[in-house]
Amino acid sequence: MGDLQIEMLHGKDQGSQLLHHPDRVTVEGLIHQSLEAKEFAYCPYSNFRVGAALLAHDDRVFTGCNVENACNNLGVCAERNAIAKAVSEGCRSFKAIAIASDLHDQFISPCGGCRQFMREFGASWAVYLTKPDGSYKEMNVSELLPVSFGPEDMSMKKVVKISNEY
Ligand SMILES: [Zn+2]
Repeated sequence: MGDLQIEMLHGKDQGSQLLHHPDRVTVEGLIHQSLEAKEFAYCPYSNFRVGAALLAHDDRVFTGCNVENACNNLGVCAERNAIAKAVSEGCRSFKAIAIASDLHDQFISPCGGCRQFMREFGASWAVYLTKPDGSYKEMNVSELLPVSFGPEDMSMKKVVKISNEY
C-alpha cells in the first residue's frame, strides 16, 4: 500500500471536488490538533484512543475524542463528537476533518456510522486519515461512502413522488 494508493486517490480527485482542499500548512495544523484531541479520549473499555479535528467553512476548528460508556452502545466516536460540537455552535459547513489514533502501522479509518454522519453535511469535503507520526492519507467523504444516501434523498418531492406510485 502507501504511496501508490495515495497517488491514485489524488489522481482521481484532481479536477473535481478537492480543488479547494486546505493547503499543506492548514492540513498539518489540523492533524496536530487531532493528535492533541486524542489525548482526551475517554476509552477505559477499548483503550483505543481516537481524536478528530474538524475544519469549518469559516476556519473554526472543532475537536473531538471518543467517549465510551459502561453501557457500551452509548459511546460516541471522536468524529461524531466533533461534528456535533460544530453543529451545536451553529456550524454546518465543513472543509475537512483529520482523524488520529495510536495505530502506527495503518491510517485510522472512520467507522460506517461516522461516514454517514459526515455525509449529512456534504460529500466532497476532505478527510485526512492519519498515523501518530503525522503522516496522512487524503480522501473525501464520497470516496469513503460511495453511492451514499444523504439529505437530498429525503426531499419532500421525492418522498411524495414515491408514495404516489403505490
Ligand atoms: Zn465512528
